[in-house]
Amino acid sequence: MGERVLIALGGNAMTAPDGTASPVHQRLAVERAMRHVSALIDAGHQVVLTHGNGPQVGNLLLKNQIAAAVVPPVPLDWCGAQTQATIGVLVLNSLGHRSVVVVTRTLVDAADPAFSDPVKPIGSYFGPDEAARFEALGETWREFPGKGWRRVVASPRPLEILDAPAALTLMEAGYTVVVAGGGGVPVVRLPSGALTGVEAVVDKDATAAVLAPAVRAGVLVLATDVPAAVIGYGTPGARPIGRISVADMRALLDAGHFGSGSMGPKVEAALRFAETGGRAVITSLENIGEALTGGVGTVVEG
Ligand code: ADP
Ligand code: MG
Repeated sequence: MGERVLIALGGNAMTAPDGTASPVHQRLAVERAMRHVSALIDAGHQVVLTHGNGPQVGNLLLKNQIAAAVVPPVPLDWCGAQTQATIGVLVLNSLGHRSVVVVTRTLVDAADPAFSDPVKPIGSYFGPDEAARFEALGETWREFPGKGWRRVVASPRPLEILDAPAALTLMEAGYTVVVAGGGGVPVVRLPSGALTGVEAVVDKDATAAVLAPAVRAGVLVLATDVPAAVIGYGTPGARPIGRISVADMRALLDAGHFGSGSMGPKVEAALRFAETGGRAVITSLENIGEALTGGVGTVVEG
């Protein structure tokens, strides 16, 4: 009997190795990623997929900005929903199994401190004049020395994956489900009880940690572009982390071994899931076929 596994696909599963996100490069990257995913499905495992969307949202934002005088720009949550659909369709076309995409909302707290301190950079770099123009329209822009100005938005903590129950129903009917792409479309609950989208992005690794128990996955695989999390990353003494306990991994995280916008969120997601009794694996896309039989990647277990 196979296991139920949630695979969170990183940027390298959806763009060329250099980050190029033209349609053909996106399609080729997804096709390549799905060959590895298919190996798991063929081995009898029940697969749930989630994915990032940074470059794709960046492309949409640029289009919004260039075309603003002709077509009204759409909000960030709309961009998120659009990328869930387009990336999802590429996945469906290349999987060749019974599969479905769920356009997914992620509930966040309107009082999340991230809203008063937006730090997540999105979209392209611009010059100071353009940045000032967008700031006058209510956006927050920040200068990155040597690179230019970039918009920053809130990255609030995911509280609940609102459409996970629909994903679960489809999985139990035998579908491979793509869910909560880009961390999910962020929504907040208004005092009236109604839901509304917000100008924010939810980290896809943080969402994966909340999604995994919601779809009753036993294993969470964080598929990225390195075969394992590493101690002393980028130093001559670097060594990969294999099987590790929650307590030991938490100590490494606290000691600052993992990049704050890259490996850090994956380690946090792995810990959060492992603490609830699951098994989390951080490894490269090429390794996911073996991620369930062991021996590859960083495996965090309670
Ligand atoms: P993804 O698109 O899969 O989320 P990220 O670039 O966000 O990819 O995260 C993976 C990257 O994290 C690696 O390519 C590596 O450059 C970086 N990284 C930072 N710290 C570490 C570490 N300690 N071990 C391994 N990789 C690390
Ligand atoms: Mg990342």
